[in-house]
Amino acid sequence: MKESLPVVIIGGGPVGLAAAAHLIKRNESFLLFESSEQIGNHFLHYGHVRLFSPWEFNIDQAAKELLEKHKIPLPCKNELPLGKEIVTQYLKPLTELPEMQPYIYLNSPVLHVGKKGVDKVKTKDRDLVPFIIRVKLNNQEEKTYEAKAVIDATGTWQNPNPINAEGIMTENEKRVADRIYYGIPDILNRDRNRYQNKTVAVVGSGHSAVNTLLELGELKETAKNTDIIWILRKQDISEVLGGESNDQLPARGQLGIRLRNILENGLVKVFPSMMIQHIEQTFNRKLKIIGIQQQKQKTIENIDEVIANTGARPDFTFLREIRHTFDSALECVPDLADLIDPNIHSCGTVRPHGEKELRQPERNFYIIGSKSYGRAPTFLLATGYEQARSVVAYMTGDKESAKRVDLKLPETGVCKIALKPAVVKTSCCIDE
Ligand SMILES: Cc1cc2nc3c(=O)[nH]c(=O)nc-3n(C[C@H](O)[C@H](O)[C@H](O)COP(=O)(O)OP(=O)(O)OC[C@H]3O[C@@H](n4cnc5c(N)ncnc54)[C@H](O)[C@@H]3O)c2cc1C
Repeated sequence: MKESLPVVIIGGGPVGLAAAAHLIKRNESFLLFESSEQIGNHFLHYGHVRLFSPWEFNIDQAAKELLEKHKIPLPCKNELPLGKEIVTQYLKPLTELPEMQPYIYLNSPVLHVGKKGVDKVKTKDRDLVPFIIRVKLNNQEEKTYEAKAVIDATGTWQNPNPINAEGIMTENEKRVADRIYYGIPDILNRDRNRYQNKTVAVVGSGHSAVNTLLELGELKETAKNTDIIWILRKQDISEVLGGESNDQLPARGQLGIRLRNILENGLVKVFPSMMIQHIEQTFNRKLKIIGIQQQKQKTIENIDEVIANTGARPDFTFLREIRHTFDSALECVPDLADLIDPNIHSCGTVRPHGEKELRQPERNFYIIGSKSYGRAPTFLLATGYEQARSVVAYMTGDKESAKRVDLKLPETGVCKIALKPAVVKTSCCIDE
């Protein structure tokens, strides 16, 4: 294989760009393809949400060195950025640097990745031929590039899960899609009119759901007729509250503390252990959700809007001709499954890991960033940066550095904190 070929990075999120910074540091050429018109596209979808980790954990080391070399001022390390500030104060200045800018292609989704002249089945001399990457360049012509290695950092945010507990997007859910927001709407500003004084059902129990519930709680302070419903599959709400004051990231702990507060003040009607099976519109244009709660059918009526915070899933369609593998349950990189499986891993703290755990059957192909976690939650930027550092070190022959995974992630401090059951309004204590 021609050593002069570049490494292709797919996805211009923070982790794809960290990989680019590490390649620059090691004098390796690269091309980066980003499907949307802006770098850090997914952060802009929740630009109004304040991150729980301060800048110190949100900037990759190689990217930092590059910015410092060009005397670009860095944000204060203790401050908590908004999602959009990750783009405006970090990713955008980074991609404008002369070492980066010429090699980044926006509006250029990758459609296929394969190996030159061979399909997936052929083994002989497979490692000797380059990768081919088919790109819809500038969203116009399709163009093929060759690469000696490929890093897939395409995230999962663009493929949200449905609200249906079985994970299947039903015809009924599609029919009412204009009343379901998949993501975190800007409830207090841009989307205020959509939600104020309405009955809003939030589905899910991750950080996105917590952010959504907190904003709805704030909206209710001025728009008193806003009714908040929270539907989650978990039985134990304390799992959602996290480590609270024990969390080593105080802002992440605060999310749990603030949620506990609005729950204990009775601002939210909670439906735990609820498996949604069906959603439909009734004659008065209201939505009705039907599910199973503690083995009994449960119907929740008179809903105006639904906010789906049920996680996301990776897209493997463009990797059809690549020998890649994933955990059959989580769709994450297989060696990560035991570290992040929410069925067995109650604590949100994940051991850092590197190239060895991320290695795929196709030599020189890696999935990193939030996509490496598949459907599992709790991905942290700092984890992705360490993945990028280790993978690039290995690709460039520095195997010692690739092995040395020395990142220390802040502990979530999760322990089982019991929530006073009497003060939380669950479906069992709502007048029905
Ligand atoms: C509400 C919220 C708050 C969070 N807060 C924190 C926090 O405080 N601290 C923390 O550490 N983490 C936090 N995270 C998690 C983490 O920051 C994100 O998951 C992060 O965006 C992951 O980065 P990534 O580069 O792996 O993927 P993404 O940011 O998802 O980037 C993937 C990029 O790939 C592009 N793409 C997709 N498909 C293609 C294709 N076929 N071709 C070309 N490009 C493609 C997308 O457009 C996108 O720009 C938070 C996440 C959420 C949702």
